[in-house]
Amino acid sequence: MNEINYKDYYSILGLEKNCSEEQIKSAFRTLVRKYHPDINSDTITNSKVKDIIEAYEVLSDKEKRKSYDYIIDSLSKKGIKSFQSKSNLNKEKSKSFNFNEIFSNIVGNLKEGTINTVKKFNNIEKDICISIYEAYNGSSKNIIITNEENCKKCNSTGKYLDNICLECQGKGFIIIKNNIKIEIPKNTLPKDKLEIKSQGYGSGITKGDLILNIKVEEHPFFKLDSEGNISCELPITVTEAILGAEIEVPTLKGPIKMKIPPGTQNGTIFRLKERGFYNKEQNKIKCQYVKINILIPKNLSNKEKQLYNELAIMEKIYPREKIYEVVYGKNK
Ligand SMILES: [Zn+2]
Repeated sequence: MNEINYKDYYSILGLEKNCSEEQIKSAFRTLVRKYHPDINSDTITNSKVKDIIEAYEVLSDKEKRKSYDYIIDSLSKKGIKSFQSKSNLNKEKSKSFNFNEIFSNIVGNLKEGTINTVKKFNNIEKDICISIYEAYNGSSKNIIITNEENCKKCNSTGKYLDNICLECQGKGFIIIKNNIKIEIPKNTLPKDKLEIKSQGYGSGITKGDLILNIKVEEHPFFKLDSEGNISCELPITVTEAILGAEIEVPTLKGPIKMKIPPGTQNGTIFRLKERGFYNKEQNKIKCQYVKINILIPKNLSNKEKQLYNELAIMEKIYPREKIYEVVYGKNK
């Protein structure tokens, strides 16, 4: 008989073909809990876990799922049936359609790959908001992580003495809250990830990690970019802009003196070297950019008005001269 069998990944996960991504995820989690918990060496359990992981890796990937659906559709139109891996432990004789032969990179080194997949799946990913000062100087923080632990009473089966396990309400795991102290290193940048080993779900060698996505809170003065540059806007007076001045600028390292040259225009950006974050990838201390914002006074005293009037008479520049030239030509 020229018969090809293939694995029905949906039934391996106990799902219908039209199931949602969420259902795939949750079925996988439940089954892995049930069968691993530490990828034991028992071959039956191990091959079952391999099938579960293989099914998950194909079905959880949109593209692979699409191809798989397409292939099984065309196979089933030809009357070719799936097999359940349980009945196929003696697979020497039966020619099996192995999806991995098409997607050979899916599982790879099975034992190692299996552990890594379960480990990855057991990772907890969480956003963490820190202030710009915590990011710059580093800090330690306590965070609360909601974690799931295997139920010891029912050994994660959800059943106790043929009844539903009351300890975990039949779920096979219990929810616990862990208070974890984390260290945020100096010069942590937005979008950095902090990996805290073995604080994820699961247990033993397949216990996942806690992955914290860093978010740096907005600061009213210092703006931090993803490379570690700081930018800020600094207001100065009209006379400081015209006559020049030495003014103090706040930086994360403390205030620094900065020279404003005479005749500084509004919007000019000055660069303060090495006043930003240290960027590990570039091995460089980034800058602080200071954008000048000239404040035009609004409520003048009579004396001030008089002086500005005197200045206006003395003014030698005609700021719109060029515009007239451009718009009307030189002769008009
Ligand atoms: Zn239980």
